[in-house]
Amino acid sequence: MNNCKYIFVTGGVTSSLGKGIISASLAKLLQARGYSVTIQKFDPYINIDPGTLNPYEHGECFVTEDGAETDLDLGHYERFLNVPTSQANNVTTGRIYQYVMDKEREGAFLGKTVQVIPHITDEIKRRMKLLGESGKYEIIITELGGTVGDIEALPYIEAVRQLKWELKPEDVMVIHLTLLPYLSTSQELKTKPTQHSVKMLLESGVQPDVLVCRAEHPISKEAKRKIALFCNVTQNSVIEALDMPTIYDVPMAMLKEKLDKTVLSRLKLSAKNDPDMDSWLNFLTRHKNPKHEVKIGLVGKYVELPDAYKSIAEAFIHAGAKNECKVKLEYIHSELITDENAKYKLGHLDGILVAPGFGDRGIDGKISAIKYAREKKVPFFGICLGMQVAVIEFGRNVLGFKDAHSTEMNAKTKHPVIDMMPDQKKITTKGGTMRLGAYACELAKDSKAYKAYEKTKITERHRHRYEFNGKFQKDYESNGMSITGINPDTKLAEIVEIKDHPFFMGVQFHPEYKSTVLNPHPLFVKFVKEAIAYSNS
Ligand code: GLN
Repeated sequence: MNNCKYIFVTGGVTSSLGKGIISASLAKLLQARGYSVTIQKFDPYINIDPGTLNPYEHGECFVTEDGAETDLDLGHYERFLNVPTSQANNVTTGRIYQYVMDKEREGAFLGKTVQVIPHITDEIKRRMKLLGESGKYEIIITELGGTVGDIEALPYIEAVRQLKWELKPEDVMVIHLTLLPYLSTSQELKTKPTQHSVKMLLESGVQPDVLVCRAEHPISKEAKRKIALFCNVTQNSVIEALDMPTIYDVPMAMLKEKLDKTVLSRLKLSAKNDPDMDSWLNFLTRHKNPKHEVKIGLVGKYVELPDAYKSIAEAFIHAGAKNECKVKLEYIHSELITDENAKYKLGHLDGILVAPGFGDRGIDGKISAIKYAREKKVPFFGICLGMQVAVIEFGRNVLGFKDAHSTEMNAKTKHPVIDMMPDQKKITTKGGTMRLGAYACELAKDSKAYKAYEKTKITERHRHRYEFNGKFQKDYESNGMSITGINPDTKLAEIVEIKDHPFFMGVQFHPEYKSTVLNPHPLFVKFVKEAIAYSNS
């Protein structure tokens, strides 16, 4: 048995309390004390991964270096910890069942009835310990998706109960995140829902060790004592988690509440050094004391749900801090933009970003937005589909290919300037079959991309099936749109730029997935810098 420590984070009372942020904040503090930590998420739904989910269902799909399509909380883990996650960091019920059922067909359980307990719970436990057994980490934080009491969460809670029984008491602990609702009429925080939610955990045989209580007002000593008494934890183990101005304030708030110390003492680990949060604080100071302000429009079709563009929004926060600039991100619905109204919808912006996406809806508005940015010389950044639409717009309005399109939207166009990648054409199934994860890219020395990265060899993460059609490369290059980044192995176009424009760049990859607090992404940093210059001009 390895000597890794396991922390489980469950949620009660309501969903959306921010288990991901609490997990990431605790991990950050433990990391800052010198421990190697990773976070994994177990999601109770039956999809194998969120790659086939509409963003309206589940927010953004985050992509890891090794090409896993994952829950957006993994983005928070990476942004906080500055350490990449992988396939193993996100597990769903679908994946667990698929594995067990495949084994059943192979005959691994011959003669036996295959059941939730022990077969499903054994597989959950195996996966819960997998990263711990890699020898790379001292502490594994596992966030359990959903809320205690959900039917589909039961096998996970049962697996945690069994692990608590199997491992040494000091090697495994449970943190339960709850809500203390505030009743304005009586002006008090109510503890009963927390008590009930802990009771529900106890019914499944799991006693939480620490309670992190979300609240809109400070929790009095008396209330903490009451929660501790009725929930069977020490008073130090009742942690106040007030609403914070930004998610990046949460680690410092948890430090103040000594969540890290409480956890370390429960796991019988030494506190080592005081947490080194200097670079984090430096980021917060820059973020909160901007010298500039820019307005950037994010043109996309999922704008009703900002979670759909989570990593992009966070990348702007990192890049803004780096530039000491407040980036006011305005979500603009692509379906509402036309050539005629673009001036009114976009005229006040210092930069325009056209978002990733799939399918036909909102494409015309994206084309209009790009036409406006190109002609009015507004800094423009297109990501994935945003890059592809920039190629379509240029094809139609500069090269005169009136029907230029992507074969994703119009399979019959005479000018398929964006076409399906050759090795995608034989693929018929949808799940996990796109070009996913990190691929190399080589930058042209005379490009703006090179100026941003300050090197020629980069790798970036991908999630797409379509690509710039090389047959049209000459038409584009001789008319002012150049390919400034290519994949060295397949020669696929990764970046396009318009030279005769202050900043017009489209990237086939997703730079937003790699931006972290400590390493803001160079292209976002450059884009914000260009937006500042534009707003000053
Ligand atoms: N729909 C496009 C493709 O599959 C773009 C994907 C994206 O924006 N992530 O290539």
